[in-house]
Parts: sequence; C-alpha cells; structure tokens
Amino acid sequence: MTTYTERPWTKLYSEGRPADITPDFATMLDLFNASVARAPDNIAIKYFDGVLTMADLDRRSDSLAVALVDNGFAAGDRLGVYVQNNPAFVISLVAAWKAGGAAVAINPMNKQRELTYLLTDSGASALLCLDELYESVAKEVIATGETVVTTVITCSPLDEQSRHDDRLFAGSERLRPEGTLDLEEIFSQHEGRKPAPVDPSPDDVAVLSYTSGTTGVPKGAMNTHGTMAFNSQTYRDWMGFTADDSVLGVAPLFHITGLIGHIGIALLVACPLVINHRFEPGVVIDAIREHRPTFTVGSITVFINLSGLEGVTKQDWSSFRMVYSGGAPIAPAVIDRFMEKTGLYIHNIYGLTETNSPSHAVPLGKKAPVDPNSGALSVGVPVFNTVVRILDEAGKEVPVGHVGEFVTSGPQVIPGYWNKPEATTESLPGGELRTGDVGFMDEDGWFYLVDRKKDMINAAGYKVWPREVEDVLYGHPAVREAAVVGVADEYRGETVKAYVSREPGATVTEEELIEFCKQQMAAYKYPRSIQFLDDLPKTTTGKILRRELRALNS
Ligand code: AMP
Repeated sequence: MTTYTERPWTKLYSEGRPADITPDFATMLDLFNASVARAPDNIAIKYFDGVLTMADLDRRSDSLAVALVDNGFAAGDRLGVYVQNNPAFVISLVAAWKAGGAAVAINPMNKQRELTYLLTDSGASALLCLDELYESVAKEVIATGETVVTTVITCSPLDEQSRHDDRLFAGSERLRPEGTLDLEEIFSQHEGRKPAPVDPSPDDVAVLSYTSGTTGVPKGAMNTHGTMAFNSQTYRDWMGFTADDSVLGVAPLFHITGLIGHIGIALLVACPLVINHRFEPGVVIDAIREHRPTFTVGSITVFINLSGLEGVTKQDWSSFRMVYSGGAPIAPAVIDRFMEKTGLYIHNIYGLTETNSPSHAVPLGKKAPVDPNSGALSVGVPVFNTVVRILDEAGKEVPVGHVGEFVTSGPQVIPGYWNKPEATTESLPGGELRTGDVGFMDEDGWFYLVDRKKDMINAAGYKVWPREVEDVLYGHPAVREAAVVGVADEYRGETVKAYVSREPGATVTEEELIEFCKQQMAAYKYPRSIQFLDDLPKTTTGKILRRELRALNS
C-alpha cells in the first residue's frame, strides 16, 4: 500500500518542480531586505494612482519603526494593525519587524467587543489604525483602559493616492484624530532615520493572525518569520513567479491568503502588489484594466462577482497567467463558467491560517480532477516539503480512497497558538496539525475535501463560529436559548441562521434581534435569518443539538 509519507503526489508536480525546496530566506526581514538591496526601484505597491517602490517601502517602514521605538516599543512587542487593504498595512508589518516585534493582523470589520479581545489577548502595546476606524471603534476601546495600548497611530485611506475614486471615497476627508500620532507626520518627521538593526530568529513571531479554533474562542496563530518566509517561497516556486509578474490583491491583507499570497510573494520577488482599500468589484475591474496584473488568489465569491459584471470582456482578463482560489469549497460548474467568460482556469488552493496559506495546491497548468462519486473538486496536492496524512478517529492512517482527517506537517506549519498551550497541544500534537478537515486521497495523490469539522460556518470564505454568535444572542434579555447553524446560500455558499426560543411573554422580533447582533459583530457574522421555536432540540444532558437544527434546512 502507498503510504502518505512516501508522498505519491510529488509526481503530479508541474514539470521541473522538485519535491522539496530549500528556503532562500530564514526570516521575512531577510527576505524584505534582500529585495530592497536587489531591486530598490521596483514597484512594490500600486494603490489607485499612487506608487511605492521597494526603496519607498524601506524608508517609510524605517521611519515608522523609529517612531515606535521612540514611543517605547521594544523587542518582542506587538503592533496591532487595523486597516483595510491600504499601503499602511504593508508598511506597518515591515516596521514591526524592524522594531524587533510582531504585527497583530486585525480584521477591519471587527467592532468594539472583538477589537478589545484581540488587543487584550495579544497584549499589543501599539496600534496602527485607519482614522475612520479610530473614530468609530478604536477610540472607545482604548478609552476603557482594558488594553495595554500606549501608542496609537492613525492614517487615512486617502494617503498614498491623489485620485480618490468616488465609488469608495466620496465625501471622505483626512480626519487626523486628536490624541493620536499621524503616519504621514511620522514619515516626514523621521525621514532618513533608521532603527537600530535587529536580527529576528526564524522562530520569532512575525504576525499573529486570529483564527477561531474548535472551541470558538479566537486564537492567535503564531505565524513565525520562518513559516511565513517558507510559504512565500512556495508560491514563487510553485508558480514560477518572477519580478515581471504582478499581484492583484483581492483577499483581505489581514487574512493568511493576503499575508502570504499577496504580501509575502510580492515582497519576495520585488513585484507590484495592486491594492484597492476594500473589495468593490467595479474598482477592482478598473484596477485590472489599468495595472494589468498576472496573478491573483482569492475566495471563489470574488471570481463569481468579478466575472458577472456587465461590460467585462476576455480582453480585460488577458494579462493574467495564473489564477488561484482558496478559503472555501469551489463548485466545478463555477470554474467552467469562469473559464467561458474569461478564458482562465481557476486553480484550487487549500490551506489554513495555521499552514500559512497553502498546504495543498493544484500545480500551475494542471486541472484538478472531480471525484465522480461526490462531485467534489480536488483541492490539489500537498505542496513542497509537506506531508499530509489522513487519519481515522483512532489516529491510524486510512487506506487510499478512504475518508479521514487531514493531518499536516511541513515547514509552513505554525509552532502553536499565542499563550494557549492547551490548544496548541490539542491541535498540533507532535508538531503535526490536526486540520479538522475531513477528506481522502485518490490513487494518484490528489486530495479531496468532503466535509469540515462539524460546526464551522463558512460564509464566502469568512469563518463564523456558532458559539460566538450564540453568546451575543444570549446577551439579549428576551433570548432564552439560541443555536446558530450554517444554511445553504446561493451567493455566500453558506450563511448564518439562528434558532431562538424566547423568554416567556417576550415579544422580540426577528428584525430586532438581527439588529442587536449587527451592532456587536463584524458584518459577515450576524445571523441573516432567525427562526423562533418554543424549545430547541437537546440531548439528555441538555446540550443543544445543532445537528438536528441543520437537518431542518436540508
Ligand atoms: P482559514 O484559517 O480562515 O484560512 O480557514 C481554513 C479553512 O478553510 C480550512 O480548514 C477549510 O475548511 C477551508 N478551506 C480553505 N481552503 C479551501 C479550499 N480550497 N476548498 C475548501 N475549503 C477550503
């Protein structure tokens, strides 16, 4: 019998690709510094009509690192980064590394409750945020004194551009909030200054990115310098990336796809990263027409959205030579439709925050097979230096074609979760990642995902853990019991539905409860529908049975 450790899939790699690669850079800072030295004038970022070269990135991140250190940021400290897809995101990552610390990647959709948790859990001492997010969310969080943030730096989405597209910025002004430092002022005040050199180790945390594990409590995945640098190189060598390529950033930069598949790869090869503040389909299409990118990776809804726009032609897509999609299951029919409209094949790519983006990908130029029984599209084959075993409940490898949990080891797997030793032991026993995803490998070495750990809801690639939404619902005085499940949704793949039983005599409506949740959580999480039941189904020990509720919808 073929065993997983023999890596039968490596024979499926594109011609000329080795089974293993040797990392050129041990840390993200080495990778960045080498690109600046080699190609200072290469364009690193295109943001509307604004352009930053590698040397510009270097100078701006130097100035920000100096300002951080002047304000007490020390080796090992954390800088919260709470912006959209703006140049400031990239600048602040590099600045955190140059100041000897790490960045905490924060979803800009997060509200007070979530931001408080992330800042407190990560122990961030500094925060860089968009002026509008400071005014609407962060100011109040900092004022409570619950966090240990001592330095707040704000910037504007209008910075680094002059065109100010009305579709995103109509009526926007630079706010320059009181009581914060200003990023533009930092650049001019500290122009030409360099922070004291630092030499992070590959095992040092470069970015903490929060992921909701099996318990539903967000955990800081320790994306180290070494794991991030390795998988940035995986993209380069898997796809044959060069400095002549350019990356269209359609994934959020705070998510692992953006961190590695946009920022990591662009910094490694010193090629342009095209970013547009946030995903607005018409704006993205115009950016494609103007900047002619060659590569992108994003969730499948991005591609459904873009290819469905009126007036978009095959010519618009003609600059691309590689298109990848990951983060959520992809229906084979969607790939066919996209191909008809654009002439481009979407390659599947699969991984987790804990694997720094890919553990699997379809080799460039190959087409993923579809499992004839389930109709599932293959997620690809394990990437360089990576072993993925499929284990049964007892922890034994299952034979080829049999279903079990994907358990992954390789140089891109994180060493653990921030300050959560128990969760680390549970999810990463012996350094192997228990993915919670269930699937099988075929005779040739292609992997198929058939299910994922029971309860997570995947709404267009955004992961929603029912417990968190339930906890918020329970905060409403009229809610007696609440259970949240994922239900099929034509556009988002899956969306959030809540079942609620009311306190006796309570009259709260569906609309009121949805609005209550909306106030307290990122837009992708709040329930889109609520059904009232007199009683929720439970086990004899009183555990609510989400399983039965899900069945009501199937
Ligand atoms: P995250 O940590 O947010 O990247 O979420 C990782 C989870 O997304 C995985 O455990 C899978 O359940 C799901 N996922 C990622 N990529 C794919 C893919 N290509 N196809 C299906 N599901 C995916």
